[in-house]
This record gives sequence, structure tokens and C-alpha cells, in this order.
Amino acid sequence: MKAMILDAPGQPLQYRGVADPAPGVGQLLVRVAACGVCRTDLHVVDGELTQPRLPIIPGHEIVGRVEAIGPGIARFAVGDRVGIPWLGHTCGQCFFCRTQRENLCDAPLFTGYQINGGYADYAVAEAAYCFTLPENYSDANAAPLLCAGLIGYRALSMAGDAKKLAIYGFGAAAHIVAQVAQFEQRSVYAFTRPGDRKAQAFALSLGCVWAGGSDERPNSEMDAAIVFAPVGDLVPAALQAVRKGGSVVLGGIHMSPIPAMPYQLLWGERTLQSVANLTRKDAQDFLAIAARTPIRTEIVCYPLFEANSALQHLRQGQLTGAAVLIPEHSA
Ligand SMILES: [Zn+2]
Ligand SMILES: [Zn+2]
Repeated sequence: MKAMILDAPGQPLQYRGVADPAPGVGQLLVRVAACGVCRTDLHVVDGELTQPRLPIIPGHEIVGRVEAIGPGIARFAVGDRVGIPWLGHTCGQCFFCRTQRENLCDAPLFTGYQINGGYADYAVAEAAYCFTLPENYSDANAAPLLCAGLIGYRALSMAGDAKKLAIYGFGAAAHIVAQVAQFEQRSVYAFTRPGDRKAQAFALSLGCVWAGGSDERPNSEMDAAIVFAPVGDLVPAALQAVRKGGSVVLGGIHMSPIPAMPYQLLWGERTLQSVANLTRKDAQDFLAIAARTPIRTEIVCYPLFEANSALQHLRQGQLTGAAVLIPEHSA
């Protein structure tokens, strides 16, 4: 099969032929139809996440069809459409696994980081971590649900019952979360890079009640804020925007250093919390919501071999919505 491969951090991915993977016990072989490009992929490729198993095929928003099944699987059949997310394996035995927090597992394996991912014609995944996807989404439109949607949903859950919700960084995750939040009768305020009129117009087109630069302030205090942009300077800004007792949730896996800030920003029982990975329950809950509510995923499709361009456009903030890679056999 063909795949986009990371040999070493900081280098472009290489498009080359590799041996077709084969499913082992409990595993599925999936013919990839579409794979979303997540900011985490950028952190892996750029070396900001330091534990990849090299060489690695990135990609953890995989939509495809089951091509072959390893021994011991009853849940899926050949031909079924499945989604493969970031969480690829957990130990099942550590303190966190035993207390319904498998997202914090001490010995996890992540798709596209330690397990070969979806920037390829085929991928192998443990069936226990794969999901059936709602039918009201095409393959390419379903791809961003698998991380941008899932992690975004987990971040939204952590924002509690906030009615006025600020979102910092209006990319793939934000554009999905903004819609889910509105279905839940919340008002969403979108904060973009200063001067990014395109992202602000995009946010308003999705029903946000306000859109502006991260250096601006709406005329209203926020109940909670979610920061998706990997920019530590936004943490004090977000704390400043939320009311007493409000929460600031950090949705990214990596962030530039958070600057020193006066205690007063946190005072008043404001909370500051990160979101790490996902549990399988998050995926089930979110995909059930996605089946009921017509989430419009805004996508930009690239042929698989142009993954480096997709990553570069994401790095430069040029994307509106989510980039999705399509292998040649599904184009
Ligand atoms: Zn564990
Ligand atoms: Zn992701």
C-alpha cells in the first residue's frame, strides 16, 4: 500500500510504498476512505510531541470500511463502515483504567503516534477502540468528528452548564463544538487571531453571537472559555474574560508556555483545566449526538500524497474548517 510516513520529526512526510498491514487477534484491517488532519498531527510531525514510534504513519481521524477481520471479533463484519480515533489501546489495569478514566491510562497507545494511522491506503486497529459512524455524514465529512468533534465534545462537557461560552481559536474543533453548544442552547463567542476576518465571518456563519480578535472583549462576561489554539498567552486572556466561578478549559495536547500572571485572574474560584485524550464513552456519547443533530463539518479535501501541504496550511492558519486526506483508491 501507499502511505505518508514520518521518518524523523521536523522532516516532511514521505509518500512511499510499504507492506500491507495484516490484522492480528482482535484487530480490524480497514480500507481508508478519508482521514482528517488534526493539529496533534502537526505537533507529532514538528517534534513537539516527543514519543512517536518511528517511522510512523500519522492520522487519527480515520473513516474506512472493514476489509478483513482478525480472530475474536463479533462486533464488526467485512464491509462495515468504521471510525478509528486517537485512543488506540489502553492497559485496562492501571489506576486510571480501573476508575473510568482510560483517557489518562499509564500505558496507552495512540493512533498515528505509536500505532500506524490513517495517512495511508489501509490501517489496522484494535476493534475494541473502533466505532460505527452515524449514517448522515459522508466519509470525508465524518472524519473530523473523530477527533475535532470528540475532543471538542469532551472540552465542552468540562465547561459545565455555561450559557455564555468563549472559544479561542476557531479551527476544526471549534467549528464543531460551536454547533453542538448551540444545539444545547448556549451562546458562543468566537475569539480568533487578531484581524482574522475570514475566521470571524466563518464563526458568525455558524451562528456564533459574537466574533472578534483574541485581543478584543465582548460587552459581556463569559461563563466559561475553551482554548483550542496552542497559544499559552491566551490563558490569562481567557481567565480575564470569564466571570467568578467560571472555568477555562484547554483543549490542545500541546501549548506554548503560559506566561506568569497575577493570582487575581484565577481568584474568585475560577478553574483552569486541561483536556487529555478521550475515553470510549466520550466517543459513544458524542457520536450519538452527531447522529441526532446535523453538524455541518466544513472540510477541505486533499489527495493523500499532498498531506504535507495540508499540514502546512494548518500550520499557517490558512484553513477554514478541517483538512481531510483522501487516498487515491477512494478519490
Ligand atoms: Zn491503563
Ligand atoms: Zn486529534
